[in-house]
Amino acid sequence: MRFEKKVFVLCFKNSSNTIFQFMATFRFKALEELLRREPLHVDFPSDKISNYFATGVFTPEKMQCYLPPETYKQVQRAIQSGQRIDRRIADQVAAGMKDWAVSQGVTHYTHWFQPLTGGTAEKHDAFFEMGDFGQAIEAFSGALLAQQEPDASSFPNGGLRDTFEARGYTAWDPSSPAFIMGKTLCIPTIFIAYTGEALDSKTPLLKSLAVLDKAATEVCQYFDKDVKRVISTLGWEQEYFLVDEALYQARPDLSLTGRTLMGHASAKDQQLEDHYFGSIPERVSAFMKDFEIESHKLGIPLKTRHNEVAPNQFECAPIFEEANLANDHNLLLMDIMRKVAQKHKFRVLFHEKPFAGINGSGKHNNWSLATDTGVNLLKPGRNPRANMQFITFLVNVVKAVHEHGDLLRSAIMSASNQHRLGANEAPPAIISVFLGSELSRMLDDLEGRIHEKKMTADEKTALKLDIGKIPEILLDNTDRNRTSPFAFTGNRFEFRAVGSSENSAGPMTMLNAAVADRLAKFKIEVDTLIEKKVKKDDAIFQVLRRYITESKAVRFEGNGYSQEWRDEAARRGLSNITSAPEMFEALNSAKSKTILVEQGIFNERELHSRFEIKLEEFIKKIQIESRVLGDLASNHIVPTAFHYQSSLVESVKSLKEIFADDQDMHESIYDRIATIKEIASHILEIRKGIHDMTKARKAGNSLTNIEEKCTHYETVVKPYLSSIRYHIDKLELIVDDELWPLPKYRELLFNR
Ligand code: ADP
Ligand code: MG
Repeated sequence: MRFEKKVFVLCFKNSSNTIFQFMATFRFKALEELLRREPLHVDFPSDKISNYFATGVFTPEKMQCYLPPETYKQVQRAIQSGQRIDRRIADQVAAGMKDWAVSQGVTHYTHWFQPLTGGTAEKHDAFFEMGDFGQAIEAFSGALLAQQEPDASSFPNGGLRDTFEARGYTAWDPSSPAFIMGKTLCIPTIFIAYTGEALDSKTPLLKSLAVLDKAATEVCQYFDKDVKRVISTLGWEQEYFLVDEALYQARPDLSLTGRTLMGHASAKDQQLEDHYFGSIPERVSAFMKDFEIESHKLGIPLKTRHNEVAPNQFECAPIFEEANLANDHNLLLMDIMRKVAQKHKFRVLFHEKPFAGINGSGKHNNWSLATDTGVNLLKPGRNPRANMQFITFLVNVVKAVHEHGDLLRSAIMSASNQHRLGANEAPPAIISVFLGSELSRMLDDLEGRIHEKKMTADEKTALKLDIGKIPEILLDNTDRNRTSPFAFTGNRFEFRAVGSSENSAGPMTMLNAAVADRLAKFKIEVDTLIEKKVKKDDAIFQVLRRYITESKAVRFEGNGYSQEWRDEAARRGLSNITSAPEMFEALNSAKSKTILVEQGIFNERELHSRFEIKLEEFIKKIQIESRVLGDLASNHIVPTAFHYQSSLVESVKSLKEIFADDQDMHESIYDRIATIKEIASHILEIRKGIHDMTKARKAGNSLTNIEEKCTHYETVVKPYLSSIRYHIDKLELIVDDELWPLPKYRELLFNR
């Protein structure tokens, strides 16, 4: 076998530079390991999915079995209405939950929460207390269910907590059911500071959902008095890459930063477009089935899986759910995937851009609104009345996105997602809305037909006819515009700009807040007209018409990646910011405060803390990448290049000696010398780059203003990552493959 030979050669070559040989051997050992990989045997349940779906979840059905009937009813009522659950009830729920969990062999419980790191956190305690006689008793009280006090001083808080007040509390979120992971009962919770301020992503999401529910329900009342509640629905599509465990370990940049900081493009990558929807390799398929089984047991309704555009890139998607639950499920899934991947000797990469030059990964957030009467408010209806409701919600969403595109963009921005934004593959940095030709025409027609003076009966009939003509199924007519960051896809909007590693709670909170604010204002405007004796339908139409006109600029049907669009967007006054600190600014702006603070989703301090955390995280990520690149370049790449260079120098010396008088050999000798010089120049550039980058970091670290520091890291430090990389990638093409220490792109991307 070829690799084995290399390992042999490298280990036994008698040279003083054993260190280089060891490094290269590490790469070849990884490749060798890869050749021996077999798909892992997975014990598939012999049952149908329906037989084991949600077996690990404390579902309402199980709750009913384990709780007194009255308690069960009260809990369900509280969940539906979002009301507090009192202590006595909490005690009973805790007892029921514990009995069920213990019957499943569970020994511990944890409050499962979403600190502002983007991931989830847990702190495990045993279900056990000491009795009066020193005996162990399985115990779990309502107090422990309802609240815990994790030592939370090391989570990011953006200045929300002083260290002397470092206490944080987790509090039960009854709207997301408890579940069992391994031998632990996990209880979804919010995470708040001693002062009551939110230290997590879930609390603002829940608040935004409540605000949206209220505003949307009131607007629904214009059309249907039976609607008492509106929920937001979320169906995420999770993209990811898989890399073999051994190769991953041989790439310190991947394991420390989540992405490759160097690596020349593989001669073949996604050019042939042969990966998308292609047949799934066996090892990958075993992994997918395994994590799907685990997810189904935890009630995550995974449904779709396929290959994505880039090699070794895949996607999975569930059936959509209520947004808070859907988001919990997404975070849980990512956790399950990480664990199951390791079992299969894979590493799953959620980073938005693990490999330069090929597609990155996103997490498309499919979002809609649904009533408790079972109506999807963003789906065209069966009659003019239902369509009027549909148009009302559609237009309000478009207007909300137009007004708060900056805020939406700030919510999806991060050091890792920045590689995607505006990079001709995912969302451009200009936030626009795609509606499809049919709906666009419909809105333009409406705008033309409605006018503020009193319409004649004929005009009104024509208008109603127009509305009535919206086909129920737009899905097939809507050509999918993949370049739009926010696209209508027939019965929902798809917010495509969200990053694959991101907690969707952030972007969803902002979207809910913007739409809730718009709907509330819409209601006020319509009611004001009604008070002035304008008929209800006329009032609705008049306000909608104005909204259509005012938000026209955000609607765009063409290619979002083109230069023409950038020019056109500038003419339309849409902002096109690519700088991170400038984007984050929207979190702190007076305009955003009007919807976030005034609606009670964040207070000023909470909002400011999000702004600070975003900046801090951005700085830290670039800082880490810069350090890792510096280390790898100095300790792996430059020594390897020196080593190869010296062997060339030796060979030139020998050639000169042997062929001193042979004119025919001179060209060859000079060619070799040219290579030596080329290597020397790349090494020099790398070393200079590292030196300057380190200086730039130091200068950045001395800045005390966090915004200035962020700008410095983005504009001064970050560019070194690509300029140094350029020379490393050139060296990769020159240096003997046997010496190259890090797995190459072709190995990372085409081996599974
Ligand atoms: P695509 O063709 O965009 O890749 P997928 O089938 O991969 O589509 O994903 C579509 C997602 O949209 C699924 O998670 C699906 O459940 C979700 N979805 C469908 N209808 C709604 C809705 N009304 N609200 C929210 N999400 C929805
Ligand atoms: Mg999909």
